[in-house]
Amino acid sequence: MTMSESSERVALVTGSSRGIGRAIAERLAADGFAVVVNCRSRVEEAEAVVAGIEAAGGRAIAVQADVTQGDAVLRLVETAIERFGRLDLLVNNAGITRDGLLMRMKDEDWDLVLETNLRSVFLVSRAVLRPMMRQRAGRIVNITSISGLGGNAGQCNYSAAKAGIVGFTKSLAKEAGSRGITVNAVAPGYVPTELTGELPEALLEQARQATPLGRLGSPDDVAGAVAFLASADAAFITGQVLRVDGGMVL
Ligand code: NDP
Repeated sequence: MTMSESSERVALVTGSSRGIGRAIAERLAADGFAVVVNCRSRVEEAEAVVAGIEAAGGRAIAVQADVTQGDAVLRLVETAIERFGRLDLLVNNAGITRDGLLMRMKDEDWDLVLETNLRSVFLVSRAVLRPMMRQRAGRIVNITSISGLGGNAGQCNYSAAKAGIVGFTKSLAKEAGSRGITVNAVAPGYVPTELTGELPEALLEQARQATPLGRLGSPDDVAGAVAFLASADAAFITGQVLRVDGGMVL
């Protein structure tokens, strides 16, 4: 059964043209959300995600917007509301890496990672709060990382941004709870995507061995956790960090 337009929930997933964001967008669409698919640069990939969702009977639009830019973020959120009439769920997923040892890290590698992975979470969350407050309901799910919880050599910039997301999540959960808005984070372990690049088999095997469940994560594993936090079953859960890492960090 397809949901009627009036009862349809609406989700915005940043950075959903590929990888984990794409899996989240597709899963939410399968769960009945109309989905705003976002990317910074590769519009054809975002449009292909939309086409896949539509072919499966769902509703989606693609919006190109750099989530580090305030004006682009406002346009992104306005477009979502103009097109679908409301906004029930924001998934702050867009992220990048610029790995390197701190001694050799360039200023721009620090700035770009902090802007893309943390400032974007501030900008997009702030922009969706007003419509969510008006609805007196909303969900925000932020994608952090086990690197933000346990640290990772070569990722001082990335880990700082991801740890920042954890503090942000807990603070906003306290601020927005009285308005019926929940704010949670999902912390994936190692999930092979374009972001992680091609790793040698020996390193992949090391990661598998460090994981009690004995395998690497998949984008669908992360999407399942996001779908749960977006569901009615998670109505009384806020300010939490849900690790999706096969038990790698315990
Ligand atoms: P990918 O590189 O596969 O995808 C990243 C997505 O983010 C793309 O859609 C990209 O679109 C988009 N994006 C990047 N910068 C911007 C921007 N400024 N504005 C809008 N969109 C942007 O990464 P993953 O799927 O692996 O990662 C998704 C999230 O999961 C990230 O936050 C990452 O840190 C996190 N994560 C990933 C893990 C992993 O092992 N893969 C582990 C833990 C966390 P485009 O290129 O077109 O701009």
